[in-house]
Amino acid sequence: MAKIAFIGLGNMGGPMAANLLKAQHQVVAFDLSDAALSAAVEKGATRAASIAEAVKNADVVISMLPAGKHVRDVYENSVIANAAKGALLIDCSTIDVESARAVASAAAKAGFDMVDAPVSGGVGGATASTLTFMVGGTDAAFARAKPFLQQMGKNIVLAGGAGNGQAAKVCNNMILGISMLAVSEAFMLGKRLGLDAQKLFDVVSTSSGSCWSLVNYCPVPGPVPTSPANRDYQPGFTAAMMLKDMMLSQDAARATGASTPLGAEAAQLYNMLVNRGDAALDFSSIVRMIDGK
Ligand code: NAD
Repeated sequence: MAKIAFIGLGNMGGPMAANLLKAQHQVVAFDLSDAALSAAVEKGATRAASIAEAVKNADVVISMLPAGKHVRDVYENSVIANAAKGALLIDCSTIDVESARAVASAAAKAGFDMVDAPVSGGVGGATASTLTFMVGGTDAAFARAKPFLQQMGKNIVLAGGAGNGQAAKVCNNMILGISMLAVSEAFMLGKRLGLDAQKLFDVVSTSSGSCWSLVNYCPVPGPVPTSPANRDYQPGFTAAMMLKDMMLSQDAARATGASTPLGAEAAQLYNMLVNRGDAALDFSSIVRMIDGK
């Protein structure tokens, strides 16, 4: 069993660390939030007073932080300087490709194996250990990371070298953001045409318009009992997080000269959703904005 330093025990990191504890690893936890840290300690993690203390004897360091600036700060100012020689570094946060590659390069220069391993599957997937991990790094680093990722997820895909996990993640979430808008627009059009939501769901879910946003996460109440629409759009995945990911894909499109007109329009619409005060609601609440509510 390994000694794992876990940094960032929020909505995702908390249940991911809990699954490592269930797999009998020793987890030494650190978070700036005392509430998040205490919740992890209650599940069996050891409390660390700083990142330096958490990583100093760890075989593996795993982080699940909000954005690129947090990941750069944590790795460039604390982890790389204090981690034990030979430790494996795994960042599971969703961040920009450039930051992921910068941190991986600093880690490599200091002699560490590191992978970026962002996830798909949300809090439900983190809890049930059914996450998909999209991994960027060397074959050797991936081989070391895989057994740990398998204890927190189901599908583990090596997407290429450093930063390519993040590249796969921004592409996936651009599809998610756009497809949620497509489903929302179709349901609001259907409503105005006099179609019952359940009937439209029954047709589309078995037709060519079917997609994850419809089948697993239907934005109108009724057809999918577990979707946030049935709990007043409590997240789930917040509109603020979706906007962050849409902006990451737009930054990446600008940097590479890729044409993403629907991604650009979707980013603007999620920006409107956040600006009207719905940042903390689930991103599928965009259906209400489209409905004119
Ligand atoms: P969260 O805000 O619940 O958790 C982040 C945690 O990091 C917080 O507890 C915060 O206190 C801690 N933190 C911030 N800076 C820190 C630092 N310097 N040192 C130590 N701890 C620090 O966010 P989350 O929902 O768990 O998301 C984490 C990451 O996972 C994000 O990058 C997000 O985009 C990604 N993600 C989230 C979901 C989801 O459904 N929530 C799904 C897929 C991916």
